[in-house]
Amino acid sequence: MTITPFRFRPVLDRLLLTNEVGDYGFFESDVVERFFAESLSNEEHRKLRDMSVLIEKGDEWRLTSMMRRIRNTHNRRHSRLSYLIVIPTLRCDLSCTYCQVSRAPLSAVGYDWTDERLAQFDHFVSTIDSDHLKLEFQGGEPTLRPDLLNDIIGICEKWFKTVEFVVCTNLTRLTTEIENIFARDNVLISTSIDGPSSTMTANRTGSDELSEAVLRNFEYLVDKYGPEKVSALPTVTENILTNPNELIDFYVSLGFQSIFLRPVNYMGFARKVHRDLSRDAVLWNQFYRLALEHIVAINDDSYFEEFYLALLVRSIFGGRQHGFVDLRSPGRFATDYCVIDFDGALYPSDEARMLSRTHTVDLSIGTMMEGFDDKKVAQLNLHAVNQTHPDCIHCAYMPYCGIDVIDDISRYGRTDIPKHETWFCQRHISLFDLIFEKVASQDRRYLTVFLKWLYRRADPPLTFELFDDSATFQSRL
Ligand code: SF4
Repeated sequence: MTITPFRFRPVLDRLLLTNEVGDYGFFESDVVERFFAESLSNEEHRKLRDMSVLIEKGDEWRLTSMMRRIRNTHNRRHSRLSYLIVIPTLRCDLSCTYCQVSRAPLSAVGYDWTDERLAQFDHFVSTIDSDHLKLEFQGGEPTLRPDLLNDIIGICEKWFKTVEFVVCTNLTRLTTEIENIFARDNVLISTSIDGPSSTMTANRTGSDELSEAVLRNFEYLVDKYGPEKVSALPTVTENILTNPNELIDFYVSLGFQSIFLRPVNYMGFARKVHRDLSRDAVLWNQFYRLALEHIVAINDDSYFEEFYLALLVRSIFGGRQHGFVDLRSPGRFATDYCVIDFDGALYPSDEARMLSRTHTVDLSIGTMMEGFDDKKVAQLNLHAVNQTHPDCIHCAYMPYCGIDVIDDISRYGRTDIPKHETWFCQRHISLFDLIFEKVASQDRRYLTVFLKWLYRRADPPLTFELFDDSATFQSRL
């Protein structure tokens, strides 16, 4: 008999047990003691065999099957660079409370890409061995330099068969030049909307007039191009912590079917201005559960998802791999994705760029001219693996979870503090607990919402057996 690694965690009055690849089962709370005392019931023995935790003679194929699933999860088929975040200018006309360090004032000199930088970019992308590229313009405010956006678009279209662009803009202005860029079929628009006008004024614009203008521009673009082309992200700050409904209802009123409830980053000024929220996972988790209750109520007669929880639900029960950079393991920094700053420096993520801007730690991993600093990238990647992390290897949620060493560095200045003390871990434990509590209690209201997210429709087939642990090992969606 072979025993493969398994992990467990109490969930309500049951014991959740997961195997190496995320198959799960609920058991009596003393099953592990009885496992080692060799006094399992027949039913428990059968369940553990079905989960490939116990592999009997003649069943060796289960081990091979498990190895194949692990290989499929961790293979590097997305390892070609195919997603760039580019900062053509660091200048911005706003100074949001959570973002000041990653911007330069409107009149600042030396923070825009020059002709030399464009030539470096041309050379850099010419070395990328891929047919497709997705490029996100971030800032600063990229629409301050539509000429640069056009140049960068031209360079990319020269080197790649297909290119997709996302312009991340604060939407304070719409000029003909900017609209001509937005009108292109391969350009999407992304903006930040933190809530109604008053919240926008508090967090972002400092002026009701400007907030109204942003919201007007947003509605104009959605009317003109349809909701598929324009997306928005909120950053949750203290002023909506006790009343998430206002933000969620506002997104519903704007016609969205999804919201990504993102906490403010623990970066730069945000760690001072939004000190408590950016440090306290308990505060965030309370807010999140409150918000989710409202989202579930909205789903009683329509479709609405919380992006992140829906992503986890699809990944656990739908077997879908996600490419979400902050929630994957191994982290694989600088393989498929990187950030290019206004000065040509390369970073593994936008948060890494911010940490370097604040002189917390230099996380640059090369330059466009010199390419990647392989030694530094290898150092970062060495720590970005939850499958070998001394704490995560004992966690029942390890197969579904990721690792975010940049977040750990930003909050604690190091990557080796006990995982359960980190914000990342506390947030994810809470999310996974929530999901499995609903499954353990067979909470039909929540499970119906999970089915909507799995099937991505308001009237999903009510296949609750997907959440039944006896069905875990059958093929999923
Ligand atoms: S970060 Fe926390 S929740 Fe995620 S695998 Fe590690 S210990 Fe588990």
